[in-house]
Amino acid sequence: MWGDQAKEAVKAATETARRAGADYADARVVTIRNQHILAEDRRIERISDGESCGLGVRVLFGGAWGFAAVSDLVPASIELVARQAVAVARASASLRKGPPVRLADEPPHRDRHATPREADPFEVPIERKVDLLLSVHETMLQVAGVSKANSFLRFRRETKTFANTEGSLLEVDILTSACGIRATAVGTGDAQMRKYEPPPLNGGYEVVERANLAGHARRVGAEAVEKLHAPVCPEGPTDLILLPSHLFLTIHESVGHATELDRVLGMEESLSGGSFATLDRLGTLRYGSPLVNFRALNAQPGLLASTGYDDDGVTCQDWDIVRDGILVGYSTNRETAPAMGALRSCGSCHADSWDRIPILRMPNVCLMPGRERLSLADLIAETREGILIDGDGSFSIDQKRLNFQFGGDAFWLIHNGKLSGMVRDLTYQAITPEFWNSCDAICDETEWQPYGTQNCGKGDPMQIYQMTQGSAPARFRKVNVRRAE
Ligand SMILES: [Zn+2]
Repeated sequence: MWGDQAKEAVKAATETARRAGADYADARVVTIRNQHILAEDRRIERISDGESCGLGVRVLFGGAWGFAAVSDLVPASIELVARQAVAVARASASLRKGPPVRLADEPPHRDRHATPREADPFEVPIERKVDLLLSVHETMLQVAGVSKANSFLRFRRETKTFANTEGSLLEVDILTSACGIRATAVGTGDAQMRKYEPPPLNGGYEVVERANLAGHARRVGAEAVEKLHAPVCPEGPTDLILLPSHLFLTIHESVGHATELDRVLGMEESLSGGSFATLDRLGTLRYGSPLVNFRALNAQPGLLASTGYDDDGVTCQDWDIVRDGILVGYSTNRETAPAMGALRSCGSCHADSWDRIPILRMPNVCLMPGRERLSLADLIAETREGILIDGDGSFSIDQKRLNFQFGGDAFWLIHNGKLSGMVRDLTYQAITPEFWNSCDAICDETEWQPYGTQNCGKGDPMQIYQMTQGSAPARFRKVNVRRAE
């Protein structure tokens, strides 16, 4: 549902909630369409294409939240669900032990935001998508030693109409496109995979076309074979150059989750635990070296969490999290912003569907490029000995986001300032602030790339959300490298 009908539904829901006694109410009519194509070897493994639509109503009564949702959008259901949300809030208020929920102020907005797009991926025929994947597989499978090929295309469109009792009325239309390929080389009692997954972005089918999967297929196949025959990595303190395709996950886990204010405050601990970056350390914690600047870029078009407005009805913004190495900010929503003395939310509150209550979600936390001219080629040339890592692998991190271990997809030795062959089975281990303090070079903006994830889980019941963690290649000195088991 979209357009005038959706606007009438959200206005009716908030008005019913207000009349039923809510101190605040908002309503979202959301339609989500997901198309997913998976290919394996010379066949299509699965095609799914589904749509879901419904209304979620969230209310505050007596300082407590209530939420209810319905998929049947006739007037009687809208009225009923709004009254249910108020009844839930009344029940919650009668049991409330903590301080009342207080929302940071936000002016009312009447606006419309849509992801800029050149081509609607849902209009591109399935046959064309299938042909693309299978021809890419053919190229990978022609490489001697490659015995398996996999790939995916994923498209998501979310249209949302939002209203609240403060006078906001918003229409948001977000389109996301992603793709990736993977080759597997099989040896005696061993197999190694190599992948190419370009940054998933908010945009249309042009994201897939610019990714040029066909142009990378032969290289990915050849690197899978090289990886299979590569020696295991040397161990010990090692200088690492981490590419944006790898660094996004390290940023996500050690900075993004650690600076979600609900986690910092102990309001949210399921799945990803608490945080060492506590409120008393705001403004003083040396998170990284003076080169390290993390900025949330939710106002930048194309990035995964850039939605124009969040599910609190707050304008998406850009703000500093770490400035010149010092912790200076958190991600917030309207509920948590007052706890850090902020007058306004940063606008980072989202629900993953119409039937989930909005929660604080990680924004596009990005490592800003270095201010000095520095290309990746120059960075490699000025690194005597080290290892370069591309792509993400497995990882683990403790419940305070401090002690971590990351693998990767591919590893190259650097010897006398030159790449000198692949190694394999590498993992590096570090403590978050020590790791970011060991960063002594970050490439300039010409090397910056907006990698990100579409499967960040948070909350209970778990909600999946997407965000970009962009960066330029960066160097970290004397990081503890071990062989992965
Ligand atoms: Zn996550």
